[in-house]
Amino acid sequence: MLRSVTAEISGWGNHSRQTSEIYRPESATETEQLLTYDRISSLLARGLGRSYGDSAVNGDGATVLLTHLNRFLSFDPETGVLECEAGVSLAHILQTFLPRGFFLPVTPGTKHVTVGGAVANDVHGKNHHRDGAFSNCIISFRLMLASGEILTCSRESHPYLFWATVGGIGLTGFILTVRLRLVRIHSALFSVKYLRARNLDEALEMFTTTEKEYQYSVAWIDCLKGGRSLGRSVLMLGNPAPDPAPETLKPSRNPFLRIPFYLPAGTLNSATIGAFNEVYFRRHGSGQRLVHLESFFYPLDAILDWNRMYGRSGFVQYQVVLPPETSLRGMTRILEMLSAARASSFLAVLKSLGPEGQGLLSFPKRGFTLALDLPFRGPEVEALLNRLDGVVLENGGRVYLAKDSVLKRDVFREMYPRLGQFQEIKSHVDPNHLFSSSMARRLGIMEA
Ligand SMILES: Cc1cc2nc3c(=O)[nH]c(=O)nc-3n(C[C@H](O)[C@H](O)[C@H](O)COP(=O)(O)OP(=O)(O)OC[C@H]3O[C@@H](n4cnc5c(N)ncnc54)[C@H](O)[C@@H]3O)c2cc1C
Repeated sequence: MLRSVTAEISGWGNHSRQTSEIYRPESATETEQLLTYDRISSLLARGLGRSYGDSAVNGDGATVLLTHLNRFLSFDPETGVLECEAGVSLAHILQTFLPRGFFLPVTPGTKHVTVGGAVANDVHGKNHHRDGAFSNCIISFRLMLASGEILTCSRESHPYLFWATVGGIGLTGFILTVRLRLVRIHSALFSVKYLRARNLDEALEMFTTTEKEYQYSVAWIDCLKGGRSLGRSVLMLGNPAPDPAPETLKPSRNPFLRIPFYLPAGTLNSATIGAFNEVYFRRHGSGQRLVHLESFFYPLDAILDWNRMYGRSGFVQYQVVLPPETSLRGMTRILEMLSAARASSFLAVLKSLGPEGQGLLSFPKRGFTLALDLPFRGPEVEALLNRLDGVVLENGGRVYLAKDSVLKRDVFREMYPRLGQFQEIKSHVDPNHLFSSSMARRLGIMEA
């Protein structure tokens, strides 16, 4: 019998903690044993817990940390194809393969996520408009079903299960191993161009006019500005540096700063955020620089435990995508509503997304995505976010489940029209809903 601890856990946002039975199996065989325990009512895999809300939390059930399934199984330097266990982190991949001249074709804004977590949220990066989501670099994975059967899923083999599991927030089974393709790089430096946009309209226009020229793009938005400066931003547009620089092919510095304890609530307020924004906007507004990939892709990883900045009550991240034709209108409305509610976001990021993939519950679809962090102040923030959800829906957009903690069922169903197909596959492979999560129950994912 595997040992467990009963503990309170939450997502990366550190709010709405729930009690769960926590297991940490060491192997696929130990993981399989969990399927047979009578006292376990439901199971959910968890990686490094970087999802902000409740998608990696199974309150009143068992949460299974798969981070010890972390071995590399094979690597072909000719093709860049890596096979690894699902608990391997992207940081581990970089540490091992960057010195050999390989990089991830798609990476989110932190390297502290597992490969399993990246599949289960079909994560995207700053190059989605060009290269699509994480699923684009996956060849296949092995999935342990509720019955204990292990299936190898790919675009050719069990494709229905492949597309339900990609972005399927852990509800189809345990991903045990993944085969993915890394890409060759000759330098860890990226050539990054910084441009100032005076407002949201200009920022969206700049994304559109530069998307052919730059593989990577992202904008930081100053959320405190209103009126004609609403949405003023700094765009960062990047391409791999043109010249080979093999000496740079190593992961850079460890975190140079740590938030050692929860900062007092209110440390981040409109005065501190406003001062930071002013300095940031002036310092980063223009020019072109060669930047190490770690600073370009993972700026927040430089600060360990940065999620404690929001104090003990935590924070929510709210990320939405809106189609190109409604992005300006919808995002303007969202920023105005936040300002009217005096809700200041410390970090606000805008990215461009390309065509929708085939993942049944995957988030990305063509348009622009806006991500905001807000201190969690209970029902007041929830009510505000639900009002924003209404704006997103009206404008044909959707909320990202990896970040969500407040979405309502009916709104979710409209935002994710392929839910019915997902449910059909889920009930086929897991008729008793052994795999479940706090999010799945909140959103009624298992209910017709
Ligand atoms: C600073 C920061 C920046 C981020 N930037 C981005 C970004 O740019 N783009 C983006 O898309 N996301 C981004 N994210 C979100 C993050 O990439 C995702 O939430 C990712 O899924 C987290 O991986 P994890 O290993 O921590 O998984 P967890 O958060 O622990 O779990 C995520 C989901 O995966 C499931 N899961 C985990 N492992 C397995 C497994 N082996 N088998 C089956 N299911 C599994 C869980 O059940 C859960 O539903 C960011 C998060 C942070 C904190």
